[in-house]
Amino acid sequence: MSTGSTIRTGRPVHRRELRTGLPLSRERACQLICCSDEELPALLAAAVEAKQRFKPAIVTYSRKVFLPLTNLCRDYCGYCTFRRDPGQQGAHTMTPEEVLEIARAGEKLGCTEALFSLGDKPELAFPEMRATLQRLGYKSTLHYLEAMCGLVLRETTLLPHPNPGLLSAEWIARLAAVSPSMGLMLETTNASLLAAGAAHDNAPDKLPAKRLRTIEEAGKQNVPFTTGLLIGIGETPEDRVDTLLAIRQLHQRYGHIQEVIVQNFRVKPDIPMRSWPEPTRSEMLRTVAVARLLMPEVNIQAPPNLSAPYYEELLDAGINDWGGISPLTPDFINPEKPWPHLEQLRLRTESKGYTLHQRLPVYPEFLPAILSHPGILAERVSAAADLQGYARRAA
Ligand code: SF4
Repeated sequence: MSTGSTIRTGRPVHRRELRTGLPLSRERACQLICCSDEELPALLAAAVEAKQRFKPAIVTYSRKVFLPLTNLCRDYCGYCTFRRDPGQQGAHTMTPEEVLEIARAGEKLGCTEALFSLGDKPELAFPEMRATLQRLGYKSTLHYLEAMCGLVLRETTLLPHPNPGLLSAEWIARLAAVSPSMGLMLETTNASLLAAGAAHDNAPDKLPAKRLRTIEEAGKQNVPFTTGLLIGIGETPEDRVDTLLAIRQLHQRYGHIQEVIVQNFRVKPDIPMRSWPEPTRSEMLRTVAVARLLMPEVNIQAPPNLSAPYYEELLDAGINDWGGISPLTPDFINPEKPWPHLEQLRLRTESKGYTLHQRLPVYPEFLPAILSHPGILAERVSAAADLQGYARRAA
């Protein structure tokens, strides 16, 4: 549950203290994430200084199409409006033709990312999904996803970025052959959210240990990986710090975390958590700032559509990326929150003194690893990238 935002840190927040570049301890991070409103400006200023040392002047976004390959899912997260059961209104598994049609339309609009979002292993729960896969000619949802990533890679200039849920070592390797990066939100390290009545009480794939295993396996295979936390789903501020520390620890070991997303829970009328409070704006800013200070050299992202209308304030907390923005497809995960028009995003970013750059789904610093393996993936990434590793069709 969200907590108030006026808890005193016990130790005043001094910008100079946070400017040292020394790693932040858990204890200090827990104090900062609970800082008082009076202390918040100093925390934000330190976070922005850290962002400026990392990537001065630039803020990025990825121009993408959203491909909800299937919205059937075997989990039932308390905040999800995306998932459907078979037969439920809106339940759908895309055909290869639909995938290509959207990808080609996005190509015409200058998109460089094909974001595949889908439910976790729906065929394990639903015979209808097994029948759909059989009709399509695939053994599992992951086999189908692999084929669709390959199709988009071969037939368009878009680069796939799959988000299929938990993955084994074998599946990480297979998907890495057809996509330069992939993602899985850790969400939280608090396993008690799987208890009865909590956000993950019917979501076995949200067990933190299993998600950490997938992220670690991607690290072992050197796959550029996107992860992050979801705030306001029943965790404490200390849980947020622990989630960030778990991500930092994996990144320190493997160096593969290309971005950390700080996502805020938004209430919707038709979800089990419809009467839960949303995290406050200042909770969001505190979490983003602490993420930046804990990981000063990792890309930190917060989605603008979930913080509208005040989204440019996220720049004051140290983000350097807006995530995927689609000129074409709606945000199927949060369909009631439209993406900001790209021109608006540019203007608001520039009003804070930054230049908006279009990036690829894989960040520039991770390109060399992808390009070192000759093949169609390296060819496509090389063709899509400019000299600095951003999207060639830079905005
Ligand atoms: S959030 Fe993801 S895993 Fe949870 S129910 Fe929705 S689609 Fe399934």
